[in-house]
Amino acid sequence: MIQVAIDGPSGAGKSSISREAARRLGFIYVDTGAMYRAAAVFIMQRRIDPDDAEKIGAVLPMMDIELRYEDGEQKVYLCGENVSRVIRTREVTRCAPIVSAQPKLRQCLSQMQQEMAQHHNIIMDGRDIGTVVLPNADVKIFLTASPEVRAQRRYKELLEKGMEADYDSVLADIRERDYYDENKPISPLRPAADSVLIDTSELDFEHSVQLVVDTIQNGIKY
Ligand code: C5P
Repeated sequence: MIQVAIDGPSGAGKSSISREAARRLGFIYVDTGAMYRAAAVFIMQRRIDPDDAEKIGAVLPMMDIELRYEDGEQKVYLCGENVSRVIRTREVTRCAPIVSAQPKLRQCLSQMQQEMAQHHNIIMDGRDIGTVVLPNADVKIFLTASPEVRAQRRYKELLEKGMEADYDSVLADIRERDYYDENKPISPLRPAADSVLIDTSELDFEHSVQLVVDTIQNGIKY
């Protein structure tokens, strides 16, 4: 099985680029951020403090997260309930990085991700895929863009969806998430030593996808 790990900060376009690259290559796409978001919903529903390691550890055996593919789209189910929409709310977006700093929770999701990678050719995106989850991945990419470009893209996306948005708070949210992700005591966000760095600050979507597809094809040793 071919394993492609794509890591990088929030808003670098990892999910949309990885999804399209996987479609072109006929690979399965796994969005591990969606799993951490579902874990955040699980903790929030139980009104547990996202910093409370003991309580989180106690409820983990009840956490059932499943990724299903419906009409080619990845849907996220939490204990049988489709949470694909709720995981994108601002509250969940703010809680996910805090919850994801919990070692036991990371261990549980990393194991699930490793199992998923045994059975399919996959592109898996996240923060620690090349460094921790799939250290032997065939191709590792670190996809990034400047915080300002990432905030600008997110701001535009929110306006296009008819949502209220303020560029400065979008940028502040991005910086805050970067800080959490880069300073986690466990699995902090950093490029794997053997990853290819792709900066999409100056690239549009099509060029980014093409570069990722080319990098994967050049990196695969059949
Ligand atoms: O990628 P996305 O922004 O949806 O991820 C939500 C949060 O989950 C991130 O802010 C990050 O803190 C966490 N995450 C993680 N490890 C991963 C994927 C996501 O810690 N592999």
